[in-house]
Amino acid sequence: MQFIDEARIRVEAGKGGDGVISWRREKYVPKGGPDGGNGGVGGSVYLEADTQLSTLLDFRYLKKVTAGDGNPGAANNCTGRNGKDAIIRVPVGTQVRDTANGHLVADLLEKGQSVLIAKGGRGGLGNTEFKTSTNQAPRHKTDGKPGEAMDLELELKLLADVALVGFPNAGKSTLISRISAAKPKIAEYPFTTLIPNLGIVQAPAEHQSFVVADIPGLIEGASEGRGLGHQFLKHIERSAVLLFLLDGTDELNPPSESFKVLKKELGSFNKELLAKPRLVVITKSDSIPEDAMAKFRKSKIDGKKPMIISAVAGENIPELIALLWEKVLAMKAEQL
Ligand code: GDP
Ligand code: MG
Repeated sequence: MQFIDEARIRVEAGKGGDGVISWRREKYVPKGGPDGGNGGVGGSVYLEADTQLSTLLDFRYLKKVTAGDGNPGAANNCTGRNGKDAIIRVPVGTQVRDTANGHLVADLLEKGQSVLIAKGGRGGLGNTEFKTSTNQAPRHKTDGKPGEAMDLELELKLLADVALVGFPNAGKSTLISRISAAKPKIAEYPFTTLIPNLGIVQAPAEHQSFVVADIPGLIEGASEGRGLGHQFLKHIERSAVLLFLLDGTDELNPPSESFKVLKKELGSFNKELLAKPRLVVITKSDSIPEDAMAKFRKSKIDGKKPMIISAVAGENIPELIALLWEKVLAMKAEQL
């Protein structure tokens, strides 16, 4: 199962600066020759692979990247200053296509890999450049050339960093819609009716994000292949961190009980799932009665005080994101 993050961006390299026509004007030099300088080169646009990034979330608002124009030349044969390059940072693994023809223009596979994507325009020539033995006073210069421009499609294959584990109705979809800043696409998904709910979550740190996937249909017996659960469990295997959601309003299946069942279910599918870092939360705090709430506050699940959240009321949501991010970062550090 593969998730895909996509973004579009327009890149425009800088125009080259124009060449100028100018004449030397010095005291005691009656007929100064040409001294018009060349224009500076326009800035280019580069893409660079950055391991700090893991999704294309930053491109939600960044729609266009422009490099600087070159400055025009000046008298005294001064060349104009070159335009500033623009560097666009993308996650390692980003594929880049030219929207116009679909051609792959870059495949950024290595950390720090940099690719020139739109070249800045050449600077124009000042009149000095046109001076010849037969033409000592050329009244000619050229303009700077425009920079390259291109519309790009960025595509990144994602794995879920956090998988939500919980029975139907535990509040998984609601939580994802509350915390996600964008939705990746699902590629080649075999079940059209049951599609995992996915979200990209903005981490507390700037330019950092992580992917959360809800694995629907996890029911008792899934590990024996009942229902579609098996397929989903396979997906959980590839996620770094598990987030257990336990419905705090379900009196028939109290959180501590559902936790045991869920754990057993995962463990009988693959013991390694139980070795993954996990976090356990009780959901729907806004509709948990006082007495039950008091009980949960004193209780321990999985050896710890459970966090009690409400996706609807927004209770403990930033705290939850911070905790998840901590665990995701720790896992990433371990993988490197
Ligand atoms: P899922 O099956 O685990 O994806 O659960 P859903 O997100 O679809 O939620 C199941 C039901 O619980 C829906 O009726 C939600 O409106 C409700 N629900 C989810 N989160 C909360 C919450 O924080 N507070 C309350 N009061 N209801 C919630
Ligand atoms: Mg759901």
